[in-house]
Amino acid sequence: MSQIMQHHGCRSHVKDRNKLTAVEERFDLVVDSNDVILERAGILLDEADGVNRNQKPVMPAGFQPPKIVVSSWNRKGSGSSSQSETFRLLHAKNIARPQLKFKEKIDNSNTPFVPKIFIKPNAVKPLPSYFTNKQIRNERPEDLDVPAALADLIHQQRTQEHVEDMFSHPYQYELDHLTVPDSLLSKPEPQMYKPIAETKLSFIDSLEDLVELNEKLCKLSEFAVDLEHHSYRSFLGLTCLMQISTRDEDFIIDTLELRSEMYILNEAFTDPTIVKVFHGADSDIEWLQRDFGLYVVNLFDTHQGSRALHLARNSLDHLLRHFCNVDSDKRYQLADWRIRPLPDEMVQYARTDTHYLLYIYDCVRAQLLDSNHGQPGLLQSVWNKSKDISLTKYMKPVFTEDSYLEVLRKQKRSFNTQQLTAFRLLFAWRDKLARQEDESTGYTLPIHMMIKISEELPKEPQGIIACCNPVPPLVRQQVNELHLLVQQAREMPLLKAEIAAQKKKGLTPVKKPEVTLFGPHDTSRASESELPYFSPNEALVKQGRLFSENESKMDVDEQKMSGLLAPAKITLFQEPEVHTEQNSLSVAQMKARRIIESFENPFRMYLPSTDVHVNKNAKFDPSSKIFEISKRWKLQSIEQQQKELEAKQKAKEEAKQQAKKASEKRTKTKQSYQESLQNVATVRQQAAESAKSAAKKRETPASEVGEVTPKPAKKLKAAKKTQKTETPSQTSFKPFDYSQSDLKVFAGTKSKDNSQFDPNRQGQDFKKKKVPQGQKKHTSAGNRSMSYMAGKSERGFRHNWPKR
Ligand code: AMP
Ligand code: MN
Ligand code: ZN
Repeated sequence: MSQIMQHHGCRSHVKDRNKLTAVEERFDLVVDSNDVILERAGILLDEADGVNRNQKPVMPAGFQPPKIVVSSWNRKGSGSSSQSETFRLLHAKNIARPQLKFKEKIDNSNTPFVPKIFIKPNAVKPLPSYFTNKQIRNERPEDLDVPAALADLIHQQRTQEHVEDMFSHPYQYELDHLTVPDSLLSKPEPQMYKPIAETKLSFIDSLEDLVELNEKLCKLSEFAVDLEHHSYRSFLGLTCLMQISTRDEDFIIDTLELRSEMYILNEAFTDPTIVKVFHGADSDIEWLQRDFGLYVVNLFDTHQGSRALHLARNSLDHLLRHFCNVDSDKRYQLADWRIRPLPDEMVQYARTDTHYLLYIYDCVRAQLLDSNHGQPGLLQSVWNKSKDISLTKYMKPVFTEDSYLEVLRKQKRSFNTQQLTAFRLLFAWRDKLARQEDESTGYTLPIHMMIKISEELPKEPQGIIACCNPVPPLVRQQVNELHLLVQQAREMPLLKAEIAAQKKKGLTPVKKPEVTLFGPHDTSRASESELPYFSPNEALVKQGRLFSENESKMDVDEQKMSGLLAPAKITLFQEPEVHTEQNSLSVAQMKARRIIESFENPFRMYLPSTDVHVNKNAKFDPSSKIFEISKRWKLQSIEQQQKELEAKQKAKEEAKQQAKKASEKRTKTKQSYQESLQNVATVRQQAAESAKSAAKKRETPASEVGEVTPKPAKKLKAAKKTQKTETPSQTSFKPFDYSQSDLKVFAGTKSKDNSQFDPNRQGQDFKKKKVPQGQKKHTSAGNRSMSYMAGKSERGFRHNWPKR
């Protein structure tokens, strides 16, 4: 191994004489060497595969060399490759996280979304005081000078009076009273779009320009809007771009730059006399609210128009072909829209999304009238549908104790208790970490890896790594944390899945002691697994299942489902069940039992009980009596709950003892290692030294760093890595010069394969690119998380989990 490592210019010699710590160091060396070797293999394979690395960068004419950012995208074949070739852009590397520049910090807390609006232009009904009064808005329970449990309650009481306002649509009233004028219900003469070449395009990234644009828009009777969005390296997602087209001009707004100023557009966006044309506005409406506090009054959605026309397909490319004879190219749809400055290709792409839209709007309206014999009914229905879309409220994804079951249900796996516990713990870990690091859950730990880890329940941290390919950086970073969770799961008594589901309540960790505030309309609060409540059809189907012959074979979630549906029994007043004899119960007996249980005293909740479990929806609906009661109950039982909590935690602690022992041992080892290092150069420094000399000797790609010649992404990566070893300290993020980069577009698998967005799949791709090298702690490259903990001594010693 030493020889191979030396051959590849990696350090192979361990200076540390300490028996225990030298092993650790050696292990690190092997991991590092593996990375280097595999990376080289990747580069060589790509070269063999014909990926042309000597292409000149395709730089848009007149583009300034970038100041900040870079992307790496790959183009297969030569630059003249045909349009028909399918492409898929990899998410770009080394993009400075735009979140860092945001004036207002992103709120990933597990609480419902409250609108950002604080000024309401075009108001018929004024904005509630909750939004105009900063003081009420910013008051937090922590600021109250009382014990935490009480503070939450008081805060909740105080906020109570605003709850209705907080969770209603700020323009509900205006939208409810919006009527479509006759002029918009009569047949228009389609007004031809201007050729792109003759249309002025403005890129807006300053407040002055934005204000000017807003004034321009306010004078119009219609304009077209579209957004581009990024969701992989952010928990909630980021709106990166807004395109606006008038009849004469195109605008592209850098919404990352103007994020906190975008709200001024509400003047035009909520003006009921100006039509805003979108195509498929469903997500856009939510993104506008979430990121900018923007609302749309008087929306026309051409997607809805297309559907009402029963066109062959309802996508924008189809409309473009159908009405404008334009062959659009949707391959940039999933590009990394955080890239700045925007490459010309992406600008052109973004621009086409709105440039033709007003003409399409004309055509669609005309056809809707024609196809309905000149009657406005069909057109009116499209206006109504569009209005419904503009009434959509953004809901933040809310984590509940049961969220994981919904995910599992889609996976159609049947898990035993240990696997189920592992999945539940991993799911919670992932949610918490993703929120904390502001990464998507898919980036943090893709579901399929979570399933694999749960299935395998690896005994060693290395086994967890082996379940992931490629290893997500955060997994690598916190593998010991994960290992503890898996161990915890392994300590569960092994039971069959069915029983596991019934026992679920028992498996669930102690309920969060803190009281969180929930909006009455925020159904996202209820985990999706509870959705059957709102969907009668679904409920019926499942109810049939409840009495079907297959009952005993039900999988986990169906069990849960049936549990939720058996009327009074579960939803409101479930108490701890006795499971011991349930094994021996026949199907019929179980049915009988359930029926009997459904007749239980509905007032049970008023009686003292060890486990008060109230239907979640009811509990969080402030309008319901139960909400009141549960609050009062909470106060009464806080003491009792705390006692229980302590007891349960104690038990858990004991169960964890063994795991801890092992990790304590590690800690000690580590400590002694740290001590032994006091006077010695660190491994990294040593590695850096040798890498440096090796680099000089062998002319490794390190020599390319800082040079201005365009370099393929992969080599660059390798280069960066060497550089990384050279400067073990926190070198500041040195962005790659985009102007020097190769515009390489990566060949996709199959055309239209992209229609399903799958970060996991992206993950597979970046495996090839070798992104995740989580334990290379000393970089601050952009694709690392912003709060990435430096220093390997950190590894595995942050036991701040689980607390949910
Ligand atoms: P578009 O309205 O087609 O310009 O799309 C707007 C944004 O939605 C894009 O920037 C993507 O972030 C996202 N998006 C569009 N299509 C998809 C898809 N098929 N899967 C996932 N995300 C998509
Ligand atoms: Mn769109
Ligand atoms: Zn678009």
